[in-house]
This record gives sequence, structure tokens and C-alpha cells, in this order.
Amino acid sequence: MRFEELPTPCYVIDEALLERNLKILNGVMERTGCRILLAQKAFSMYAMYPMIGKYLSGTAASGLYEAKLGYEEMGKENHVYSPAYRKDEIDEILSICDHIIFNSFSQLERFKDNIRKAGKNIGLRINPECSTQEGNGMYDPCVAGSRFGVTLKNFRPDLLEGVSGLHFHTLCEQNADALEKTLDAVEEKFGQWLPQFEWINFGGGHHITKEGYDLGLLEKCIKRMQQKYGLLVYLEPGEAVALNAGFLVTTVLETMENEIDIAILDTSATCHMPDVLEVPYRPPLFGSGEAGEKTHTYRLGGPTCLTGDIIGDYSFDQPLESGDRLVFGDMAIYSMVKNNTFNGMALPSIAIRDKHGECRILHKFGYQDFKDRLS
Ligand SMILES: *Cc1c(COP(=O)(O)O)cnc(C)c1O
Repeated sequence: MRFEELPTPCYVIDEALLERNLKILNGVMERTGCRILLAQKAFSMYAMYPMIGKYLSGTAASGLYEAKLGYEEMGKENHVYSPAYRKDEIDEILSICDHIIFNSFSQLERFKDNIRKAGKNIGLRINPECSTQEGNGMYDPCVAGSRFGVTLKNFRPDLLEGVSGLHFHTLCEQNADALEKTLDAVEEKFGQWLPQFEWINFGGGHHITKEGYDLGLLEKCIKRMQQKYGLLVYLEPGEAVALNAGFLVTTVLETMENEIDIAILDTSATCHMPDVLEVPYRPPLFGSGEAGEKTHTYRLGGPTCLTGDIIGDYSFDQPLESGDRLVFGDMAIYSMVKNNTFNGMALPSIAIRDKHGECRILHKFGYQDFKDRLS
């Protein structure tokens, strides 16, 4: 079907836009010899895994379920990191993952025997205590009191036997200058042990496919670790893989006025794009302007009963009417992986737009999906 015919609400992933990102990431791999994994946390649309697997080295998971998904649907290198593994899951994790990354020496000791038996790659997450972002710490693993990674103070060189690599993940939507600064901290604190490892994983948060990202500096950072310490370098971006590669199509259900003009959509911020409220951020909306920029400004809200279910204030050339379709941009990442059925909201369908512009619905959700999560 055509884009205009898709039922709403609907997430639409654009194959060509996704492939554009994958080519940029693959270029970094080709030029440097590093390996790049999809962090499934941001984007787990497994229908696209065959395509992603053509360009990237594999998947990164945060636990058993994501690890299983990567194993089943991509079947390439499968890495897992969790702040704490469950005893009743570790053996299944070991059976499907190549790299198991631990968050502490205590975790490492707890599961050492299981891992030795399985003969897998063991990694340790370090915390270089190098904050490179502003804000309240919601997205800063180096914030004071963070539960992520071993700090230098807690580092135990005597327990490194069998550990083949170090992992850090400290960035969020950042350019390569933040990575360079982080590598300085990693070297300063952990440099003396780096030569004994086989690999280092730079985590995610690299905004590699964003316009203006400094690819040259990224590649310099990768080569620095390769040349200085002989390490194989992994990156595991989530966001960068599917950045700006998808849309959320919605229909205006009703308009009203209460001092301001308001439009109620068939999509919800809190259910379908929770990061709009959590981060928070303002999603791009095609054909719209900032509040007051165009003639008709509306506050766009969802049909739930949450007062704060507001996407934002946007302006339009024409007044909005019931039945109008609106298209939000950058809705591939941290959208369908985080949505929910609060208030009995239906989940948006998931569709793909192929390279010829043809659209196909892959998954429709209904009442049963709401009911199945309750009892
Ligand atoms: C979230 C996360 C990623 C991916 O981060 P993006 O910001 O989506 O690139 C990678 N690795 C780990 C350990 C993470 O927690």
C-alpha cells in the first residue's frame, strides 16, 4: 500500500533511510577494522535484522530476552551486558552469547565456574568516572553513585584471570570529542592493564549517523586503541543505527479550544513515544513549525486521561481538522521498544516502507495485546 493508506497510529520504518545509516557504520568498520554491534535496547525491530546483519557484526543485549532475539533473528556475534545476572538465566545466556560482560568483580566471581565451563569471552565493564554530559544524570553512567561499571578504586587486577576485554559505556547522543576525552580517562586510570586484553568495547551513545558527527575523530580514537594496545575495538550504538529512519503516522481525532487551540491525536506521548516525556524532547513533525511560527498553533495531545500526555505545541499553515494525518519524524529508536498499553491504548502498527516507496504492515496489535499483559 501507499504511505497515505497506512492505518494509524503506525510506526513506519524506511528501509532506504535505515540502510543509509548502516552504510555509514559499515564504512567505519571497513576503514578501521573495528566491529559494530546493534544495541537492541534502542531498536529491536527484528524484521530488519537480516538487513542490519549484512552491514554490522552482530547484536548487543542487556539481558536474556534481548540476547535471545539477537541470537534468533540475526545470528551473528552476540554480546550481553547486565548490571546483575540472574542465577536461573546465566546458563541459557552462556549458551547463546559469545561475549558476556560483567558489571563487577563480585558478579564475575559468582558466575566464574559457569563461564569457564562454557569457554566464552568474558568482559568487565569499567567506569572511567569521566562525565561528558550535562543534565540530571538520567543518561550519565558516570554520575556520582552510578551502578554502572567498576571504578578504579574497586578494580581488582588480581581477579582478572580469564577476562579478555574491557567495556565502557558513558556517552549519550554525543560526538567523537566526548569519546576522545573518555579514552583519555580510560587510559589514565586503566591504561597499565590494557595491553593484557584482546578487545575493548566503547559502548553506545555515539551519534555517528547524525549530521555533523566527526567520523575522522572517531576513527582516530579507534586506531589509537588498536595501535597502542593491539586491541580489537567494538562499538555498540543503538540510536545511531536507526536514527531518523522511521516515522509515527497519526490522525487528528478532534480539535477544541481552551484559551489555546488543541488537537487530540490517535497517538499518545506517554504510550507510543514515552521518551518525549521522559527525556524530554520535541519530536520533529513534518510540515509544522514552532509555536507561533505559522498561522495556526495547536497543542497536540493524546487520547489518554493523563493531563501531561502532550506531545508539544506546533504550528501549521492550515487549521487542523478531524481526519488530518500528521507524521512525526525520528520515531524508529526508543519508540516501539518502550511503548505500552496504559489506559487501554492500542499499540501502533509496525510497517515498513521499502526502497520503492511501497508500504507493508508487518504487525497489527489489538485488544488481545492489552489483555494479555494483565490478568
Ligand atoms: C544504551 C546502551 C547502548 C546504546 O546506546 P545508544 O545511546 O542507543 O547508542 C549500548 N551499550 C550499553 C551498555 C547501553 O546501556
